[in-house]
Amino acid sequence: MVTTSFKTTKSEEIFAAAQKIMPGGVSSPVRAFKSVGGQPIVFDHVKGAYIWDVDGNEYIDYVGTWGPAICGHAHPEVIKALHEALEKGTSFGAPSVLENVLAEMVIDAVPSIQMVRFVNSGTEACMAVLRLMRAFTGREKVIKFEGCYHGHADMFLVKAGSGVATLGLPDSPGVPKAATSSTLTAPYNDLEAVKALFAENPGEIAGVILEPVVGNAGFITPDAGFLEGLRVITKENGALLVFDEVMTGFRIAYGGAQEKFGITPDLTTLGKVIGGGLPVGAYGGRQDIMSMVAPAGPVYQAGTLSGNPLAMTAGIKTLELLQKPGTYEYLEKITKKLSDGLLQAAKDAGHAVCGGHISAMFGLFFTGGPVHNYEDAKKSDTAKFGRFHRGMLEHGVYLAPSQFEAGFTSLAHTDADIDRTLTAAKEVLSTI
Ligand code: PMP
Repeated sequence: MVTTSFKTTKSEEIFAAAQKIMPGGVSSPVRAFKSVGGQPIVFDHVKGAYIWDVDGNEYIDYVGTWGPAICGHAHPEVIKALHEALEKGTSFGAPSVLENVLAEMVIDAVPSIQMVRFVNSGTEACMAVLRLMRAFTGREKVIKFEGCYHGHADMFLVKAGSGVATLGLPDSPGVPKAATSSTLTAPYNDLEAVKALFAENPGEIAGVILEPVVGNAGFITPDAGFLEGLRVITKENGALLVFDEVMTGFRIAYGGAQEKFGITPDLTTLGKVIGGGLPVGAYGGRQDIMSMVAPAGPVYQAGTLSGNPLAMTAGIKTLELLQKPGTYEYLEKITKKLSDGLLQAAKDAGHAVCGGHISAMFGLFFTGGPVHNYEDAKKSDTAKFGRFHRGMLEHGVYLAPSQFEAGFTSLAHTDADIDRTLTAAKEVLSTI
C-alpha cells in the first residue's frame, strides 16, 4: 500500500493551471471530483489494471477510462495493431475494409443489430438513434428514465444521470424548452408509469430508450419482468424499444444486456468497448429501420472522422480478445469476489450499504437499499462515499469519483489485485 508516500503536489500544480484555461479544469465534468471533494488526480500513464499519476502514485483502476478498457489498459495486442494501422495513416474520410470487419463483428454479437452505423461517441449514437426513432414512427415523443444518461444532447438532458446527477444539476440552462418538450420521463423499473404515459399520449410516442442495466445513477439492475414488460408495451403501442448499451455492450456479456436477459430491442446504441479506448460510438438495429439512414434513406447523419481506421482497429482487436474462451466467466468471477467482498467489508464495519454486479460492472451505494431507481439511489450517503473514495485513493485504489457511476473491472485485474483492494477497503471503511 502506498498510504505513507501518497502525495499530490504535481497534480495540484497542473490542475490549478488547468482551471484557468479550461472550465473546471477538465474536459468532462465528473473528472473534477466535485462530488467526492479533494484534489483531482492528474494521470501520466496506464497499463493493464493500473494507472499512474504525475506524482508517481500507482493505483488499481476500477474506472477503466469509463468502460472501454475491458481488456486492460494499453493491451499489447491492441497497441501493436494500432502501430501497424498508424503506418497506413490516421484518417481516410472514405470507406475502409476495417469498417466491414467491425460491423460484421458487431452484427454477429448483438442480437438486435442487422445493420450498423459508426459514429464518434455515445452521445452522437444516442442523438442519431432518436432522430431515427422519430423518422421511422412519424411520432415525436420519447420516453426515457430518471437517472439514465444518454449523452449530452439537448433532448436527453431531462432528469439525466452521470455528471448531471453527480453535480446535482437541474436540467441544463441553454437547452431550449422545445428540445425537451417531447421527452417524457418515468422512474426506472416502473412499468405502470410507462403504461400511464402511453395511455396519456396515444399514438404519439416514438419509443422508449433506456440503459438495460443502469450505470449512470450508480449501478441499478432491471427488476424481473421490467425489460420483458417494456418489450410488450412498446410492441402493443407500435413504438420502438431502444437499448442504450454504450456502457453494457460487450461488458455484461459479449452480446450485451440483450444477450444476457434475452430481450431483443429494435435499436441499440454502442460505444466505449467497441472503440478499444479510441473515440467511437455506433447505432444499429433492424434492417428496415436502419435502411432509413442516409444515404440509403432520408434520415441525415454524418461525421468527418466516423469509421476512423485507428478506432476501428482498436475495436476489432478488443473484440477479438473478448472472444477468447473463458473471458466472461473470468470477469464474472473476479467482479463477484470484489463486489461481495466490498459489501461484506462495509457491513462488517457497520455501514448501511447495498449493491451488486453483473459480469464486469459493479456498484455499491451507502444506503441500506434496495435501490430500484434514481430516487432510491439518491438516499445514499454521498458525503460518506466521498470519504470512502478519498481513503481508497490514498490506499492506491482508483474508484469512479461519484456515487452515481458504476465501477468496471477488466481482464487485467488479478485475484491479487482484488485481495489488495479488499484489504484497503477494510481499512478505509473502519475509519469513515
Ligand atoms: N449512454 C450511456 C449509457 C453512457 O454511459 C454514456 C457515457 N457514459 C453515453 C451514452 C455517452 O457516451 P459518450 O460519453 O461517449 O458521449
